[in-house]
Amino acid sequence: MSFLTISHLKKSFGATTVVHDFNLNIEKGEFVSFLGPSGCGKTTVLRMVAGFETPTSGKISIGGQDVVNLKPNQRNIGMVFQAYALFPNMTVAQNVAFGLKVAKKPQAEIDATVHEMLSLIKLDHLGDRYPYQLSGGQQQRVALARALATKPQVLLLDEPLSALDAKIRVSLREEIRAIQRKLGITTIFVTHDQEEALSISDRIVVMYEGKAEQVGAPFEIYNQPSSRFVASFVGTLNTLDATVRDAAAGIIAIDGKDVMIGQKITNHKVGDKISLAVRPEAVSLGEATDKRETTLDGKINSVHFLGSVIRIRASLGENTVSFDTFNNPSAPPPSPGENVKVSLAAKDMLLLGQ
Ligand code: ATP
Repeated sequence: MSFLTISHLKKSFGATTVVHDFNLNIEKGEFVSFLGPSGCGKTTVLRMVAGFETPTSGKISIGGQDVVNLKPNQRNIGMVFQAYALFPNMTVAQNVAFGLKVAKKPQAEIDATVHEMLSLIKLDHLGDRYPYQLSGGQQQRVALARALATKPQVLLLDEPLSALDAKIRVSLREEIRAIQRKLGITTIFVTHDQEEALSISDRIVVMYEGKAEQVGAPFEIYNQPSSRFVASFVGTLNTLDATVRDAAAGIIAIDGKDVMIGQKITNHKVGDKISLAVRPEAVSLGEATDKRETTLDGKINSVHFLGSVIRIRASLGENTVSFDTFNNPSAPPPSPGENVKVSLAAKDMLLLGQ
């Protein structure tokens, strides 16, 4: 049995159901992200795990114990919120000590744990400061230390990085992941940022309209999206309009040119309009060099020079694609308006709506 199991979880507010039959098993020590657009129910599921919200129906068990009827403080859970939520009138050390004081731990144990937690978040030297004297990133590290001080069996992180600026966000997410690995603590991380979820998770739960749309490792979610929603929400995705030429042989036409997509087309007949999803990695500038690629005529719409990478948008007849190419110091990038050849790797195209 998994360490944390959520089965047939449902939550309604009045007549509106915001979480529908949500099921998930999380193993001990796993780092699982809930990823989805605003309002899809991520926080509501997290709050039910924490005990701040009561499920309309369904079960949640942690370490084999049914926790639905337990109060938040009986669940042995640590939580970090988006807003720093530190006690402003307490020092860093007092904030970290808070849960241990409430639990009436002996002072020597409190002191030792505060010391251990502050060194875990590398803020040993700031124990006497007040929250207003810290940066946003430092405040979130203190919030993490406070959540971990009581040695919870599960750590819940609700968009802990979204109030921080981009650079701090990246370094802090790596720090959180390193601390989580070191402690081996089972963690759920809520985010609407796909790059964040892809970069730090063991598994991702992509949520849409209160349901788990797909659950899988980042590589799997990105490369084998189970639905159009997942394909478009996770990563950049080009959607191309095409026409079926030969369904059984898997041949379609994009901008009048035949393309073999390497998969049978079911549910469609010759002449039907279809949509294809193409990741930027399957698009390249120039003539095809592989026979599984197709070359199309394109026109450059925009070029963004990002340093090592150049981001290009180009029209292929009625369709538009975005893709990246590496900087080549001896060849300047193409210019907007230029006519170019664009190659599509047919085997990496995904037929939508099959
Ligand atoms: P965000 O990323 O914006 O925080 P989310 O995916 O975490 O979104 P939730 O906060 O779980 O979404 O909200 C899911 C839905 O439930 C939303 O439509 C929200 O308005 C609704 N909702 C949440 N809490 C309540 C409540 N206490 N009463 C009524 N509706 C609620």
